[in-house]
Amino acid sequence: MPRPEAELLEIVKSLRASVRELKNWGIRDFINSPRPPVSASVPPAPAPAAEPSPLAAADTRELFPDLAPKTASRPPALPAFRSLEEIQELLKDCSRCRLSEQRNRLVFGVGNPHAEILLVGEGPGHDEDLKGEPFVGRAGQLLDKILAAINLTRRDVYIANIVKCRPPENRVPLPDEVETCRPFLAAQILCINPRLTVSLGAPATNALLGNKQPITQIRGKFLTYRVPRPGQADWQGILLPTYHPAFLLRSPGRKRESWEDFKALREELLNPGSKSGKTNG
Ligand code: SF4
Repeated sequence: MPRPEAELLEIVKSLRASVRELKNWGIRDFINSPRPPVSASVPPAPAPAAEPSPLAAADTRELFPDLAPKTASRPPALPAFRSLEEIQELLKDCSRCRLSEQRNRLVFGVGNPHAEILLVGEGPGHDEDLKGEPFVGRAGQLLDKILAAINLTRRDVYIANIVKCRPPENRVPLPDEVETCRPFLAAQILCINPRLTVSLGAPATNALLGNKQPITQIRGKFLTYRVPRPGQADWQGILLPTYHPAFLLRSPGRKRESWEDFKALREELLNPGSKSGKTNG
């Protein structure tokens, strides 16, 4: 038999932890509207069972148990932001993880803030770090060509990364770095509300989906991914994993598969549901 007092105690503990966490993120005015008091005699209704949110910390710990911080707790979803500029302002001079130490410029993201298509890479490289813009080196030039092949330009899409600062020597971001930075990607996603998201390469795909399936097995498939929202059910989006352009430069033989993926993206954009089976509306 559940004990309401014990449950309430747990809720209070959890709320206190969330408030502490939000303050750690530099957010202090997150309570915008008064909430009804919780009645001590009526325990809260159990939340409907939901699949784990891929952008929540727990998944990364499951994904990389050896590297994940042992004491980390699931970070709260950041409060809703009115604009990308608000998120960018919050990230200004960010030093929440070690990637801040060697960066030249933080690479927040570029493009149409109301884009139907969001492209997500793993992190900035050398050129991006110098310019403060994602995908500006050779891989970026290839991405531009790929977009042009389906009649799109950078102005039509939004481009962001899982981590906003360059990992040294272009290494893959470590799980704790991903865990620290991805609430900001989650906030970007909620602001943009893209109809379709394309993850470029395995690290971005794994971070968004919370799984570790090889990119060769899931590329080209339209999948569902989730983003936690404060006080609401998770946001759900359609994800199309594909190869990272830098990988295509090293393995040009894979370009045909990538081309198939982007053709499918174009088809889905023109005829919602034709490839994904979902209208996302
Ligand atoms: S990678 Fe993200 S969390 Fe880490 S310092 Fe850069 S902006 Fe902050």
